[in-house]
Amino acid sequence: MNYAAVKYCDIANGLGCRSVLFVSGCRNHCEGCFQPETWDFGYGKPFDEALQQEILKSLEPDYIKGLTLLGGDPFEEENQKDLLPFIRKVKEKYPDKDIWAYTGYVFDEDLQPGGRKHTNDTDELINLIDILVDGPFVQELKDITLKFRGSSNQRVIDIKNTLEKGEIVLAME
Ligand code: SF4
Repeated sequence: MNYAAVKYCDIANGLGCRSVLFVSGCRNHCEGCFQPETWDFGYGKPFDEALQQEILKSLEPDYIKGLTLLGGDPFEEENQKDLLPFIRKVKEKYPDKDIWAYTGYVFDEDLQPGGRKHTNDTDELINLIDILVDGPFVQELKDITLKFRGSSNQRVIDIKNTLEKGEIVLAME
């Protein structure tokens, strides 16, 4: 997997001060996408061990609330495969930090067994995530007043509560 960028102490992509990893590769190709250069799986640089260590280190301070996975799309099959071992490490080292992830795919359709982006890695990866912002960016539904998402079809899903209750629980409206 390649990555497009990493931001540290970011406050725009999840609650609190966060480390944010923008992975490369996205097949959603939403009209009006804010970073179409990241559609290319070859864009950016390799997500190598040195970068992974750098991100792990960045999460150490108490004031860093957690890690956000952005894209591109972290839920493309090949990205899930490379992210899973890394997210396992993050949760092992920092069980109290939260993980947010953004995807253009729909949680209760595409990421469920039989869904177009469900792989052998998906269930475990979802289980390690706290908040999932799902759904494609839809230009006609763009709303700049929304928190942490671009269009009103997108949802900020509380994954832990959703899995516990067996129905979608939103973390915020
Ligand atoms: S899912 Fe995100 S990165 Fe992919 S095309 Fe849509 S807005 Fe762009």
